Amino acid sequence: MKIFNTLSRRKEEFVPLEPGKVKMYVCGPTVYNLIHIGNARPMIVFDTVRRYFEYKGYEVNFVSNFTDVDDKIIKKANEEGVEAGIISERYIAECKKDMQGMNVKPATTHPQATNEIDGMIAMIGALIEKGHAYAAADGTVYFRTRSFREYGKLSHKNLDDLQSGMRSLLVSGEEQKEDPLDFVLWKPKKENEPYWESPWCDGRPGWHIECSVMSKRYLGDEIDIHAGGEDLIFPHHENEIAQSEAANGKTFARYWMHNAFLNIDNKKMSKSEGNFFTVRDISEKYDLQVLRYFMLSAQYRTPLNFSAELMEAAKNGLERIVTCAHNLTYLSEHAAASENGAAAGTDAMRDDERESLTGAEQYVTRFEEAMDDDFNTADAISVVFELVKYINSHVSGVSSKECLQAFYEMLSKLTDVLGLIVEKKEEILDEDIERLIAERQAARKEKNFARADEIRTELLEKGIVLEDTREGVKWKRA
Ligand code: AMP
Ligand code: ZN
Repeated sequence: MKIFNTLSRRKEEFVPLEPGKVKMYVCGPTVYNLIHIGNARPMIVFDTVRRYFEYKGYEVNFVSNFTDVDDKIIKKANEEGVEAGIISERYIAECKKDMQGMNVKPATTHPQATNEIDGMIAMIGALIEKGHAYAAADGTVYFRTRSFREYGKLSHKNLDDLQSGMRSLLVSGEEQKEDPLDFVLWKPKKENEPYWESPWCDGRPGWHIECSVMSKRYLGDEIDIHAGGEDLIFPHHENEIAQSEAANGKTFARYWMHNAFLNIDNKKMSKSEGNFFTVRDISEKYDLQVLRYFMLSAQYRTPLNFSAELMEAAKNGLERIVTCAHNLTYLSEHAAASENGAAAGTDAMRDDERESLTGAEQYVTRFEEAMDDDFNTADAISVVFELVKYINSHVSGVSSKECLQAFYEMLSKLTDVLGLIVEKKEEILDEDIERLIAERQAARKEKNFARADEIRTELLEKGIVLEDTREGVKWKRA
């Protein structure tokens, strides 16, 4: 298996630290809003990476954090007049709903920064002790960047170039730094901000230290893969390396993986320009499986452009795969005769059927080749298409349940790696939908918005979209 490593800028053979195991950390979102489809890209990409390792028989310990203390969270909390924790818990819950819709598996552990403050204080203390950090007069603790000789190795930046670029960026109040390159590990509290006690001052951690600490706590000093969007290479991941390696004296992560950005209409997604969608926006119009398919239709290091046309193409592509799977299910459910054969212990598959099944195995091999080549999901999807074409052209000659099921399993084994669901969803009856809508209206009346939202999500998962209009609630099947 080859992985493009940002550290070496080359594809490298994957060799785990411990045979059969993968320790992986993915930087998660800052939770102050519904996640947008840009945030969804690393979630889907690295969930697929995890699924492929599992398919290959690895045991994956997958850690992904929620950044739940941050300026934007605090700002929103102050605007609403609530504690920061109310905001972060709300958006963690919403994020988990979106993840479920996109069929992103929950991480082995989802740590939250505010639960890990002790570990951060301990690591900062160790860095000070080793001469890699210092506290300024006001209690701010800085990392002494030049003390870490390998600084810049991930982003391939040179310290002197960085220094000249930084001079113009000096923020007021930072004159107390020994060097403009130094970055914050701990900062003093401000009014209306959450804070924790520390040996240096009441305050809160800098952003970078949280990932170093959570990765250490849940995965150990050395891990196999650290991942995130490419905007995190510098300074976030560079700083994480400096902190972790200076504190632990070990290589932090062996492989660094970064996804390219998702753009909209060929422009950078930005809130200020209004060209930005939340995952929830998309879920109103599409099954989130379509979004997942769309994200995987490009290799993760290729920039991807979001557009209505591409989403329609994704919808059609997914439909073709799902139809093939449903067709196989239907046919095998109706292949009663051979089922009796199987029950009697005879091999229900004919020779010619076995032959056409063997002929399909090349697609599994090619799928694996694509995924082994730095998780090329674009090629992997093309191979799935070829398999679908193959199945469609051979299925008319197949009558045994065993063969139909084997085709189904072959297809679903590959779509599972991509996290695409091809199983038939349970049909929900009109009267059940009406009943749930009535329950949702009653919940709203009682201001039980949590239950109302739950019903909306439950219906969405079954492909039912609700629309609140002046004439009441309307629904349609997506
Ligand atoms: P943030 O909440 O901004 O820290 O982002 C969470 C994750 O989403 C990080 O891994 C980012 O790199 C990633 N991310 C943010 N915007 C985009 C985008 N437009 N395309 C791809 N990844 C993104
Ligand atoms: Zn991080």
